[in-house]
Amino acid sequence: MSRVQSSTDRVDTATFATHGASARAVIRELLVHGALPRAELARRLQLSPAALTRVTRELLDTGTIRESGAASAGTGGRPGTPLEVSVERHQMVGIKVTGDGVYGVRTDALGHVQGSAQRQLASTDVDDVTHTIVDLVNEVAADAPVEAIGVGLAGTMSRFDDRVRRNLYLGWDDVPLGAALEHACGLPTVISNDVRALTAGVHWSGPARGHDDVAVVTTGVGVGIGLVIEGRTVAGTRGKAGMIGHQRISDSGPICSEGHRGCADSYLTTGAITRAVAVAHGEPSMTLERVCALADDGDAAARRVLADAGRALGAVVAGLVNALDLPNVILAGDGLPAVMRARPEIEESLALHLDRYASPPDVQLLVSDFDEWARGAAVVACQWLLLEPPRWVGTRRPGVRARGRDRDRRRRNDAVPIEA
Ligand SMILES: [Zn+2]
Repeated sequence: MSRVQSSTDRVDTATFATHGASARAVIRELLVHGALPRAELARRLQLSPAALTRVTRELLDTGTIRESGAASAGTGGRPGTPLEVSVERHQMVGIKVTGDGVYGVRTDALGHVQGSAQRQLASTDVDDVTHTIVDLVNEVAADAPVEAIGVGLAGTMSRFDDRVRRNLYLGWDDVPLGAALEHACGLPTVISNDVRALTAGVHWSGPARGHDDVAVVTTGVGVGIGLVIEGRTVAGTRGKAGMIGHQRISDSGPICSEGHRGCADSYLTTGAITRAVAVAHGEPSMTLERVCALADDGDAAARRVLADAGRALGAVVAGLVNALDLPNVILAGDGLPAVMRARPEIEESLALHLDRYASPPDVQLLVSDFDEWARGAAVVACQWLLLEPPRWVGTRRPGVRARGRDRDRRRRNDAVPIEA
């Protein structure tokens, strides 16, 4: 059933996902590249001037885009005026789930954080974790309408998945978390691999903004990689791209949890680093912070273990650059504060392992907390709405109690009457 909408209604109900494919392509282009004039948009999207005008008029009418503030002053909206997305009008929630905590942010359409909160997990039970996430969504989405939820966590999810696949830290596989959150929160929800989510945020509004080819390599509880090639996140046809943790680095290194000798994990994970220093010191309760403090004090064992980790990381980065000719590599993850103490070893090993004809990459360090990962999950939610919008957005969702008419959805989210 359809009804004629007034222009006020259109502004009230317009989410990214309610627009057609051409309009969503315009939004995406403006988010990724910043303000652009109509002629440039038409050229990039291969749309006729008339088609582009139709699309931009709809987007201007709904307030989704606007003429760029600085440039439009005094022009009266000439065709050459650049257009930009009203990013603050389109907000997402991003959630990062670790083995023992949940981190949530509300962001604008580009992933800029507007509010954040976190919870510790009392258990890894699916219902308990789901309730904790719902509670967190309630808190961060309390002050603004939200269009979608993105959840990032370890696992072999496709780029825009509806479930958690093979998450070792929670012990989950094939858990339909997306549907559970959609039902509880009344918002479309997408699940993605957390390193890919981090990479999406880094690409859209972090240090990789403006770069079409970049790898993000993370160290922490595991070793991960997120790839953007020609502007597009690479997930692999089965969601498994980026499994580099058990790549062989040396024939004589430590043994990892899978029984490999000298793989990247055996040098680089937080567990590997703390175990090696714990053994050297006879201190079973070693932490990464303590390893860093020991290294800073000149402790030989801590420095040797971190130097080995740095050399392993340099070899991993070199392998990626050799294979993919990546001009930009960003090192990140909660293990980075330790590993970056071995920056000379990282660089030395990178130079040693790069093919003689490969171009050395620009390597940047991104030290962050888990909000950065949650922020990336919000960017994935935004990408999902623009690239593969869920079918029920903008209409009443079948099978779920709807309060009032469709246009009340935004107000519903305003008030956040979420059923925990
Ligand atoms: Zn291994």
